[in-house]
Amino acid sequence: MAEETRLIRAGATPARLAKTVGPPIQKGSTVLLPNARALYDDDAFVTYGRAGLAAHESLKSALAEMEGAAAVELYPSGLAAFTGAMLAVLKAGDEVLVTDNIYKPSRRFCDQVLARYGVGVRYFDPRTSPEDLLAMATDATRLIALESPGSLTFEMQDVAAIARLAKARGILTLADNTWGAGFLYKPLAHGVDISVQALTKYVGGHSDVFMGSAAVADKKLAHQLEDGVHNMGWAVSPEDAYQMLRGLRTLPVRLEQQGGAALRIAAWLEQQPEVVEVIHPALPGARDHDLWKRDYKGACGLFAFVLQPAPEAAVNAFLDALKLFGLGFSWGGFESLAISCDPQLGKRKSAPKFAGPLMRLHIGLEHPDDLMADLRNGFAAFNAALQ
Ligand SMILES: *Cc1c(COP(=O)(O)O)cnc(C)c1O
Repeated sequence: MAEETRLIRAGATPARLAKTVGPPIQKGSTVLLPNARALYDDDAFVTYGRAGLAAHESLKSALAEMEGAAAVELYPSGLAAFTGAMLAVLKAGDEVLVTDNIYKPSRRFCDQVLARYGVGVRYFDPRTSPEDLLAMATDATRLIALESPGSLTFEMQDVAAIARLAKARGILTLADNTWGAGFLYKPLAHGVDISVQALTKYVGGHSDVFMGSAAVADKKLAHQLEDGVHNMGWAVSPEDAYQMLRGLRTLPVRLEQQGGAALRIAAWLEQQPEVVEVIHPALPGARDHDLWKRDYKGACGLFAFVLQPAPEAAVNAFLDALKLFGLGFSWGGFESLAISCDPQLGKRKSAPKFAGPLMRLHIGLEHPDDLMADLRNGFAAFNAALQ
């Protein structure tokens, strides 16, 4: 054959594939099938690369192991996992009950997209009891969306009780479990139907890859989610899937370290005169501590605290004086971050009233002594701005 022809196939399949500790980063849109019959074999393992190849399969099976799931779907972001799971199970005429402390972009999707497609959306105060919540449900209610703890105000719900009561009414439950990261908390083991998380946060762990997952225990739901991904045409890159799997390997040790440091810093903050209140469910004496203790095997590095009442200039002076805490809207990475939260609470129907400005911290892998020194500098700037 001519060289042009030989070069089209040369080296396409390595003669030997060494075994490494991670999967191969297999790339491909085209999947070559072994024979003509396999072209239209519905049971074929994969017929087109969009469905995911080796690295995707490895990541899905590792996540399924962690979540105790029958199946896991991958999405191009955490937000897409939430929206994708919703779209896969809802239809016009359905209604969803959504916790009022839901991640804000998820709320925007409910208000702007679900509403446009004829799905009713009602928000409930995260402090609503499971019985009162189910009393809100009607015959149209198809799904209850939970986020416990919420990622700004950290209210927790008795997710197991809600899931049990919802199941008895034929209503699905979906939990955004980004705070629990699939390791600290296992929604499926508590009866939740769909466990969603932004892998972007703790599983990735390095603030550089977007991805989301939805995990389910039920086979029929698994098919619905899979159809949903196919219908929407979503795909994630094999490099990103590989990075997520790499992050997963160190998830427990990072959570142990960051969760422990966060708890230490939270307890220290409680003693600071500039702080009115620390909001962290793993702190003994915290409002949701009993629920957290019952359901969680640890805490992550994300919590909030309330500053003494102060003008915005003093709040900004505190943030601007921080050198180790970056100012950024994310969390779950190896680095510490801080934000002020008040502008985000405005859209809620039942936002709790705090005695002062609400601040959120993400504790990274820096030494906690250095982080406390950084916060001390921030408080000095805060006090100076009050003079
Ligand atoms: C960040 C986040 C998401 C969205 O994840 P992306 O990957 O950024 O789209 C969803 N839920 C919660 C609680 C989050 O913190």
